[in-house]
Amino acid sequence: MNNAYFDFLEPKNEPVLGYAPGSHERKALQKALAEMKGQKCDIPAYIDGKEVRSGIKKEIRPPHETGHLLGHFHASDEQQVHDAIDAALAARESWAATSWEHRAAIFMKAAELLATKYRFKMNAATMLGQSKNAYQAEIDSACELIDFLRFNVHFLSQIYKQQPLSPQGMDNRMEYRPLEGFVLAVTPFNFTAIGGNLPTAPAMCGNVVVWKPANTQVYSASVFMEILIEAGLPGGVINLIYPSGPLVGDICYAHPYFAGVHFTGSTGVFQSMWKSIGNNIARYKSYPRIVGETGGKDFVFVHPSAHVDAVVAGLARGAFEYQGQKCSAASRAYLPANLADEIKTKLVAELKTMKMGVVDDFTNFINAVIDEKSFASISKYIDNVKNSNGAAKILCGGKCDSSKGWFVEPTVIETTDPSYVTMCEEIFGPVLTIFVYEADQWIQTLEVLDNTSPYALTGAIFAQDRHAIEYLTKALVNSAGNFYINDKPTGAVVGQQPFGGARASGTNDKAGSILNLYRWLSARTIKETYVSPTDYRYAFHLAD
Ligand code: NAD
Repeated sequence: MNNAYFDFLEPKNEPVLGYAPGSHERKALQKALAEMKGQKCDIPAYIDGKEVRSGIKKEIRPPHETGHLLGHFHASDEQQVHDAIDAALAARESWAATSWEHRAAIFMKAAELLATKYRFKMNAATMLGQSKNAYQAEIDSACELIDFLRFNVHFLSQIYKQQPLSPQGMDNRMEYRPLEGFVLAVTPFNFTAIGGNLPTAPAMCGNVVVWKPANTQVYSASVFMEILIEAGLPGGVINLIYPSGPLVGDICYAHPYFAGVHFTGSTGVFQSMWKSIGNNIARYKSYPRIVGETGGKDFVFVHPSAHVDAVVAGLARGAFEYQGQKCSAASRAYLPANLADEIKTKLVAELKTMKMGVVDDFTNFINAVIDEKSFASISKYIDNVKNSNGAAKILCGGKCDSSKGWFVEPTVIETTDPSYVTMCEEIFGPVLTIFVYEADQWIQTLEVLDNTSPYALTGAIFAQDRHAIEYLTKALVNSAGNFYINDKPTGAVVGQQPFGGARASGTNDKAGSILNLYRWLSARTIKETYVSPTDYRYAFHLAD
């Protein structure tokens, strides 16, 4: 009998483990790394809760150690995409009818399994497959993903509680139905947590999902699928497949029961998705929800009153952690002439202390960029500085070495042209470009900053002058969806800084917040009148 209302209270953020020498967690993580490196994985797709191996094997190698083979995953063909959609649609009715407390329990259990039994396996998979150091893996594949699961359960129970007014004589209710069809989750390489959140947020709302991760994130994605299955997720609710992007897109966008896409990745891919969905609009049973968080060209604006050491630490962490492969990474900085020399000198000195190499050596702060394509694209931006006719020069770094892995040194470019290519385009690597402005021109420089790129994802300002802080916050109101004052523009925490950008950076539906969950629900309003009127006439038109 179900006659009670079940609530899930606001959780606390998962504590970040430190991995200091001698700590229990460091030993456990090193053991997991050694075990996973010692095995050869053979990763299947998961359709209708079953493992499926296509036989189309693709190699998985650590980006920082390309000579080592971790194993293979089985790429998906056209038939598997159809099978995944069919399995999702077959599971839809019973999943949508599963009561909230039982749906929620599956995701709360997954969070618990990840926080305990699977924590080190998951972090090791992220370190080896995506080349993250221990700390970067811990904040992503453990803490952020655990937070996504627990906070979303809490947010959804807040939504279910919201009910309309019921004046005397009637009852008004709101039902929060899942969408009528399946949701496609397409996820990027750079965050295991985003990989896990994009399929589970709609699934938690009662939707069924086809999940396609980036090929370079399959290793950790498959560990998360293991966790979901152990947590009791019924077959068909989330189907994990590995087709190419265009293949999954062509089949899903042409399907009448395509109900929405939950995407994180580059702006170009998202815009092409939106066009295809538009071209197919007359085919669908309902209007698909299109949710996408995309690229960025994130800025740091330093006011003449800024604290120099805070700026240096903000740039060193904000631009170079995880090799600059965060959508939020600082990639252009505007420095006032009165502070520029001191900031540059100190920043270059700090970057020289950053060790680069494999992830199993915990003294390395910098690891490799994700793959050959990315390495080639970043190297080209750096090489092109030589041909800039003096508009740009390299202040430090600049070496790229692919002999053992895809290594790019943390690189700082200085330009005299605020619209130089590396000030405008997303590079997605460890490259920061600096533009120095005259200190008395800081207000005019803001307009340049605001108009330099089409993106508006994250941005940071550094200033001690309170009037300047207020002015900057207002003047840059549309230039970032996540705006930081005296802090680096990266490191958003679920429940604390809901994340997402506007303009070309996405639909700003703030992953891991209540706003995002509304997109996966289709409300039905129900009015019941206790004693129905039996005469159509109103008082106003009766005769005097
Ligand atoms: P990507 O766009 O290359 O790939 C993202 C996903 O889309 C992958 O699963 C890929 O296989 C798939 N894909 C590629 N072409 C496709 C197509 N034609 N149709 C359907 N799917 C297709 O991005 P990436 O290199 O994995 O990730 C880096 C990008 O993601 C950067 O631009 C970064 O700014 C962005 N990002 C944004 C956020 C955010 O919250 N705004 C967060 C993380 C990453």
